[in-house]
Amino acid sequence: MDVARLKQSWSLVAAHGDQVPLYFYSTLFLSHPETRQMFPTNMAGQRDRLVTALAHIVTNVDQVDRLVGFLKDLGADHRKFAVRPEHYPAVGEALVATLQHFLGEQWTEELAQDWTAAYGLVSQVMIEAAQAAEAVAPPWWVAEVVAHERRAFDVAVLTLRPQYLLPFAPGQSVGVSHPAVRTWRYYSPANAPRQDGTLELHVRAAPGGVVSSRLVYGTAVGDQIHLASPVGDRLTLWSAGSSDLLLLAGGTGWAPVKALVEQVAAEGAGRRVDLYVGARSRLEFYDTETIEKLAASFPWLTVTYVVGADPQRPGEFVHVADRALADGDWRSRHVYVCGSDEMVTHSVRALTQAGYHPGQLHHEGLGKHWYGPAWRTALDASAPDNSGGAR
Ligand SMILES: Cc1cc2nc3c(=O)[nH]c(=O)nc-3n(C[C@H](O)[C@H](O)[C@H](O)COP(=O)(O)OP(=O)(O)OC[C@H]3O[C@@H](n4cnc5c(N)ncnc54)[C@H](O)[C@@H]3O)c2cc1C
Repeated sequence: MDVARLKQSWSLVAAHGDQVPLYFYSTLFLSHPETRQMFPTNMAGQRDRLVTALAHIVTNVDQVDRLVGFLKDLGADHRKFAVRPEHYPAVGEALVATLQHFLGEQWTEELAQDWTAAYGLVSQVMIEAAQAAEAVAPPWWVAEVVAHERRAFDVAVLTLRPQYLLPFAPGQSVGVSHPAVRTWRYYSPANAPRQDGTLELHVRAAPGGVVSSRLVYGTAVGDQIHLASPVGDRLTLWSAGSSDLLLLAGGTGWAPVKALVEQVAAEGAGRRVDLYVGARSRLEFYDTETIEKLAASFPWLTVTYVVGADPQRPGEFVHVADRALADGDWRSRHVYVCGSDEMVTHSVRALTQAGYHPGQLHHEGLGKHWYGPAWRTALDASAPDNSGGAR
């Protein structure tokens, strides 16, 4: 397989932008109509996801270790879309037809062989990983909504009870899908694992958001939703040793941070934790009752609220990280940051400029990603820039 040739041909195809996924999906659905039901009714976001996924596979095609980890995660995760081994050749045919279409006269027999071989390897790794995952976890869990509280105009806190135990670590995220919309997004459990197996989710409805709007405005106690295997290791305490912690949360970024606080409490010993919780306005602190209870229960926990936009000072915005940096020197601690992409990007930049090093910074943006942390874990784990954060 000629990797350079493969990459170069992909860059020519990718230059056609949105036309590529349009052609690909039309070809796939026309030749194999049974695959249509695996995709959301509204395909807009799906198009980006396909192109981004392919771009990452092609870019990393010569870095086998990283690529195999990514593909294994992808294969195991795709079980939630009810993808079966017999679907892979259909996708391969549509992919080759798409490449051939956009490359026109530049499509050669050698390229056809390169792409067929590359796709064969990719699908083999994904199929094997999916089969291996069968022994470990179901493709998805059915969970009942046992509580649904609207805490702000656009924020709901949901408590879910999966039919079978869904193991996860604080700081991870799980795939969530409402059966009515048939598409998956990630949400972070806001609790450490509980005896009764329930999970709490904090969901902010994105304007026009397919899944979040459904979860906030169109879900009630007794409804069933689907959950998929937990992903991500960026926000877990796995690499923080027994260090004291500085936790920075913005908006529903408070969810995984709350899970971390509960984990520290469950560990029962020794860490000091300083928590900064930010919101754009006072009205947007949707979980103060819980935060106050935690602060009152645990002497090792100190809480500071940061209001971004103060009506007294129009035009100024106070960032959570800037406030924390102004309050103290936390360089001996591990720092966890979760919030919007902008909040995370700003925080990581400010902390880095203040002398904090990548190894002590753990961050996750809740941004509009085609695929969640599993992808980043596999592909970015060894990337030199651990200080980015723009999602
Ligand atoms: C690892 C991870 C963990 C996450 N955890 C949480 C969580 O605990 N709570 C939570 O509320 N969200 C969380 N998110 C975000 C969540 O996965 C969805 O992206 C978000 O709810 C929007 O999905 P949607 O289907 O409603 O919007 P879509 O239908 O995908 O998009 C609708 C519109 O909203 C915009 N949009 C999409 N996503 C976002 C976003 N995140 N922020 C702003 N605008 C957006 C799109 O550009 C589009 O214009 C997490 C994301 C990741 C990657």
